[in-house]
Amino acid sequence: MLKFLRRIVEEVENASGFSEALSILVRLTKEALETEACSVYAVDFRSHEYVLMANVGFRNDNLQGFRIKAHQGLIGIIGDQEKPLNLDDACTHPNYLHIPGSGVDDFHAFLGVPIISNRRVLGVIIVQQKEKRKFAEDEEAFLVTLATQLAAILARAETYKIITEQTKVGHADDTVLLGIPSGPGVGIGDAVVVYPPADLDAVPEKECEDIAAEIISLQQALQKTRDTIKELGERLSALLPKAEQELFAAYLRLLDRNSLEKDIIEIIHTRQSAQGALKKAIQNRVRQFENMDDAYLRERGADIKDLGQRILANLQAQKEKELVYPEQTILIGETLSAADLARVPENKLAGIALVKGSANSHVAILSRALKIPAITGVSNFPYVTLEGKELIIDGYYGHVYVTPTPALRQEFFILAEEEKQLDESLQELRDLPAETPDGHRVNLLVNTGLDADAGAALASGSEGVGLFRTEIPFTMRQRFPTEEEQRIIYRQVLSAFAPAPVTVRTLDIGGDKPLPYFSIEEENPFLGWRGIRISLDQPDLFQAQVRAMLRANRGLNNLKILLPMISGVGEFEEAKMLIEYAYREVNQEEATVMPPIGVMIEVPSAVYQARGLARRADFLSVGSNDLTQYLLAVDRNNAQVAGIYNAYHPAVLHALQQTVRAAHLEGKPVSICGELAGDPIITILLVAMSFNSLSTTASNLPRIKWVIRRFPYHQMRKFLKEVIKYEDPVDIRTYLEETLERAGLGGLIRAGK
Ligand code: PEP
Ligand code: MG
Repeated sequence: MLKFLRRIVEEVENASGFSEALSILVRLTKEALETEACSVYAVDFRSHEYVLMANVGFRNDNLQGFRIKAHQGLIGIIGDQEKPLNLDDACTHPNYLHIPGSGVDDFHAFLGVPIISNRRVLGVIIVQQKEKRKFAEDEEAFLVTLATQLAAILARAETYKIITEQTKVGHADDTVLLGIPSGPGVGIGDAVVVYPPADLDAVPEKECEDIAAEIISLQQALQKTRDTIKELGERLSALLPKAEQELFAAYLRLLDRNSLEKDIIEIIHTRQSAQGALKKAIQNRVRQFENMDDAYLRERGADIKDLGQRILANLQAQKEKELVYPEQTILIGETLSAADLARVPENKLAGIALVKGSANSHVAILSRALKIPAITGVSNFPYVTLEGKELIIDGYYGHVYVTPTPALRQEFFILAEEEKQLDESLQELRDLPAETPDGHRVNLLVNTGLDADAGAALASGSEGVGLFRTEIPFTMRQRFPTEEEQRIIYRQVLSAFAPAPVTVRTLDIGGDKPLPYFSIEEENPFLGWRGIRISLDQPDLFQAQVRAMLRANRGLNNLKILLPMISGVGEFEEAKMLIEYAYREVNQEEATVMPPIGVMIEVPSAVYQARGLARRADFLSVGSNDLTQYLLAVDRNNAQVAGIYNAYHPAVLHALQQTVRAAHLEGKPVSICGELAGDPIITILLVAMSFNSLSTTASNLPRIKWVIRRFPYHQMRKFLKEVIKYEDPVDIRTYLEETLERAGLGGLIRAGK
């Protein structure tokens, strides 16, 4: 059974089109279950009908297109109840529907299983037999397993089908794709696809328009690859034994015009893009090698794949050079790095929509910092088909509209205009203090890390930097920045804000923040080698960074150092020792000031040790993004579980309260620098808990200040006392939203979504 299952899924995935995939599916399923008929229906979400997509075994095998209304027939029961229906005689069931001229009435035994993806029924798969009998339990289990495997394929095909049909005829429609709101605002512009760097497996199959142009770019990439390999072979010839030198010659033979090049060009002639054709040709070669008996030759499959990656990297480099960004660019793809964002010329980036990630992924945080409307976790996003198409990004609700109608476009223009007006009216608050009407003062700080957001941060009326994410300048390079390069970066931000304090966080890589030149392969990156763990294991890197910060601080003395991912007092003490060591070195060359050292509270164990940490450190800062992720055991980057990532969860609120109390009992200040600090809906609670400072993206500051200046502190304390008793995050959110509405601050609720 398992073998059959794998075969079916593999053949269906490799089919050249949607209808071929479904005909393969019904034929192989009928064969696997040794039954007499099999059919598959897909839901048409526009007309609310089930459409027969493929069938085999009936008197008439060409019934495709036959439609059944939602909730009707046996299929309706399966779809409504979302569970299998196994009948020994379907014809006697009161809901049985007769299909004229089909011959289905010859069949009695009936087993239908829903195909469900993301809580949505996408279709139904049915097997039937003439004999009256119930299908056995293992047959039912087989079909259920098959349906779960098919769900993703059907979901992809469903969206793909709708979008291609719509865009092919140049017909405008308001089809909406759903994702996770990750950067507020509305963006209207033209799509530019960003592909992952040189990953052959991730290359999409894409039709090309200009075969000749694809062949030319392939030939250039191949020539570049040949040149590099030749040069490498010559350089290493004196050092390598004969057998290894042979490998370079073998690579060059493969790159010969009559070999791989010929195969790839043949595939391009079937209208495949050069990248897609390269992928196919390499896959074919690898398969040939992997099927060989000789173990040595089998291993060569890996060499061919490596060669394919090199050619792909050269093809991608050409594409990047050719890329012209439209005036209003919407970047789309699987995911993006800080470097991808930085590549778009200033003022041309209008929006982002991605398959991966969620509202608290780093790419989402970056887009908010840049004030770019963003959507992550767009399920079944057929982005490869959307290059150059007009899109609307509704970053409030996580909706992507493809080729919108003029009416819809107009509606979104008005919305964007209203937002701008609210922002402008709040600018009046810029120079007023963040103080409640009864005199409770809160420090408002900014999070930064990109050059591009420094200007906005400075102009925002903030009282300093609460979080400078140093990993961002690290990700923009091809290698670790030198100590001097780092000193210059830190000096820029320290002097831009002086005398206001600037909290610089030591390198926080790992998790979803990889460095292109420092590879970390882990099963569970968020539970692995991250943040301070890397710094302590690589004291050379850590000390160079600290020395750069200390030197940058000379004469300004507004630096504060913040340590990420601390999970216990031991780590803090070790890190502090290394900082003191670096300090002694720097102080010996020239008198330098020792800055305050703070701890991020973002791992649950640190909440329980907050008092001990506060005693040892100079300040605490809560990283609510990671703290929420670890408290609720929800990967902040996983779209599938984004619905349960909820910072309004009572457990998160209790952890925040406990941390503030611990810090204050030790007489130390505490701030919050996660995304929660920028959410105006929860500001009341954070102020009531007595956080000394809130640190967030510059663009959030006016809205937060609006709330702080609206409610007296004693009233906020009362709200907190009430809310902290609640056990359900939904009740907490509703209470806060109603409070804001009553106070006339309802405008913030849409922005907070
Ligand atoms: C956090 O985890 O809340 C935080 C501020 O750090 P980052 O988002 O960079 O992991
Ligand atoms: Mg963090």
